[in-house]
Amino acid sequence: MCGIIGYVGNKKCLEVLINGLKSLEYRGYDSSGIAYNQNNKIKIIKSTGKVQELENKIDKNILSDIGIGHTRWATHGIPSVINAHPHHIGKTTIVHNGIIENYIELKKELEKKYHFQSETDTEVAAAIIDYYAQNNNKLEALKKAMKKITGSYAIGIIFDDEPETIYAIRKDSPMIIANKDNESFIASDIAAILEYTNEYYLLDEGEIAKLSKNGLTIYNNDLQEIKKKINIYQGNINDAMKNGYEHFMLKEIHDEINVYENIVKSYCPNYNIDDLIKNFPNFSQYEKIKIIGCGSAYHAGMVGKYLLENYANMETSVEMASEYRYEKIFPNKKELIILISQSGETADTLEALRIAKKNNLDTLGIVNVNSSSIARESDNVIYCLAGCEIAVATTKAYLAQVLILSLIAIVSSYNKKIINKDQANSYLLDIKKLINNTKEILDNEKYYQNLAHKIYQNNITFFIGRGIDYSLCMEASLKMKEISYIHSEAYPAGELKHGTISLIEENTPVFGIITEEEIALKTISNLKETKARGSKIYIITTEKIYQKYLNDNFYEDVIIIKEINPLFQSLITITPLQLLAYYVAKLRGEDIDKPRNLAKSVTVE
Ligand code: GLU
Repeated sequence: MCGIIGYVGNKKCLEVLINGLKSLEYRGYDSSGIAYNQNNKIKIIKSTGKVQELENKIDKNILSDIGIGHTRWATHGIPSVINAHPHHIGKTTIVHNGIIENYIELKKELEKKYHFQSETDTEVAAAIIDYYAQNNNKLEALKKAMKKITGSYAIGIIFDDEPETIYAIRKDSPMIIANKDNESFIASDIAAILEYTNEYYLLDEGEIAKLSKNGLTIYNNDLQEIKKKINIYQGNINDAMKNGYEHFMLKEIHDEINVYENIVKSYCPNYNIDDLIKNFPNFSQYEKIKIIGCGSAYHAGMVGKYLLENYANMETSVEMASEYRYEKIFPNKKELIILISQSGETADTLEALRIAKKNNLDTLGIVNVNSSSIARESDNVIYCLAGCEIAVATTKAYLAQVLILSLIAIVSSYNKKIINKDQANSYLLDIKKLINNTKEILDNEKYYQNLAHKIYQNNITFFIGRGIDYSLCMEASLKMKEISYIHSEAYPAGELKHGTISLIEENTPVFGIITEEEIALKTISNLKETKARGSKIYIITTEKIYQKYLNDNFYEDVIIIKEINPLFQSLITITPLQLLAYYVAKLRGEDIDKPRNLAKSVTVE
């Protein structure tokens, strides 16, 4: 959730910390703070709100060569200066990402020795570390503290009596470490340090990193020094920049074409099934598939269910990770568990993966971030190759997940001999049409901008559809509500009249997604039912359905998309709706890339 940065080196550290926090701000942004060493004294500056407000309080020219910083996404205690990190207690200062689950119990134990000031779980973690540091060397102290605290954490630490060193530990929350030319860094993700280096180490659970001007040392659980494999970030620095776009979200929608091209280039460069089967696992031994995810990843799974069932004849269910982890599991060796997560660190999805593995089930991660926890712990992984996604509301990464699921459907259908080689190759060739049609949609951006004018002043919208279109409604509706704050409901078109239709009033906008001809007339009837109650109808449909069924003009406006292979139809249906949500939020003046209350990578339960 939150963003952590730590730096030691010859640069002015406050500048490195603020720049790092700015690139991490998408991860959490209700407050922020830094701690730095000035003349062997640890100074702390904190602020509520955006990093900009912190920056306003800071003189970046202060001479300091070591410090840690944090952007918070509050879990325990309101966003306030007192609750903001870093937390200093005793002789210990920390920044923390995650949740200390046993903090109440620990707080009771420590209350006699420490005077707590904040409501956070983090301050208790700082106290326990400080407590052990009194009678142990720092590495021993951290090892003991890790044994004592339960929950999830990535923590950066500076001790008053060792102000030239940063320590870092983690469990279930991500933390990377880097070292280049006498400079060392800790960070929640690579975006924070990409300006300086693209080489990094992943800190593993139980390990301790120690950073100072003398370099970087990593210790294992037995406090022995270890050497780790270096990772090289494959993207480029432009990923973390807006490149002339007003918002990351708009940039990332425009990046969708590159994402499709990357996926093809990496998995089937000649649009050929022979390449694809070499690059993808074989799924044909499974009788059932269960797809697990949260938010948009769950919605991608819903599209995947439709594709896998209809093209590969594989019975598929979709579950929200936060529900799966507390359900009764019926282990079935013939079931594959697919975990979808952009960051690969989503706490609920990661836990679902661990539960599946405990039950000896085969697992496949569909993940965007290289070497993330879900990628490393799944039996197999397919990377989404969407590049770095900064806007909190996902666009290109969601579509990458859907395209990967379409490719799994093609591979499975081929391996199960439902389609032959020529058919499989011709399906893959249709990705060219997907790319061309997405280009056309993006060239026609003005249309969605105008459409946004018609609805942006409403406080409620509905998205209705049937079958795969309902899955798309879920995603379109989520996009609308998360960035524009217009209350939006997605409903299976036939279900609306069983209660929710009572919310339809004069002028309520109702969007109908209709891409499947067999059920087009049914959805059209459901739309007309809402029209009879005063709604204003907007339709997203294919050219063919438009010509055949939509000539009686009962709607306000229509988005007409090209008809392509149904395997890829959902991808070109969503792009216009992402643009629409973007322009609606823009007209309402919202903070599009950082919507309130949200964080990009949800690393807490
Ligand atoms: N649980 C901590 C807090 O509420 C850390 C939250 C975060 O990851 O930003 O302060």
